[in-house]
Amino acid sequence: MSDCIFCKIINGELPSAKVFENDHVLAFLDISQVTKGHTLIIPKVHKENVFELTPEIAKNIFEVAPMIANALKAEFNPIGMNLVNNNGEHAGQSVFHFHLHLIPRYGKGDGFG
Ligand code: 5GP
Ligand code: ZN
Repeated sequence: MSDCIFCKIINGELPSAKVFENDHVLAFLDISQVTKGHTLIIPKVHKENVFELTPEIAKNIFEVAPMIANALKAEFNPIGMNLVNNNGEHAGQSVFHFHLHLIPRYGKGDGFG
């Protein structure tokens, strides 16, 4: 989609701090780090949110999530991690290209929750 910022990140029109990439998904650091290492995993095809996902795309996202979570754990040494996904404006979605947040947690006062 031409005016989607995440599609622009996928096609290189906008920069990102890439964490992981394969044929189906891209993971990159969130521009506004809720906690250190806050990462987004997105499908390379434009799907607005969970209501548009196919099982195959959902599989592509969750297939890589444990590996990326472990890479973030090794890099940043958090004591926990939230996987968060907002669908629809009223659920807190602000970018309308599906994304799964990986939010490393460091204890009380770490900025999230
Ligand atoms: P949502 O509120 O839709 O669940 O999350 C959207 C996320 O995208 C926010 O955490 C926001 O900081 C992040 N974001 C918005 N624009 C950009 C951008 O241009 N680059 C990156 N890396 N993250 C972005
Ligand atoms: Zn998009």
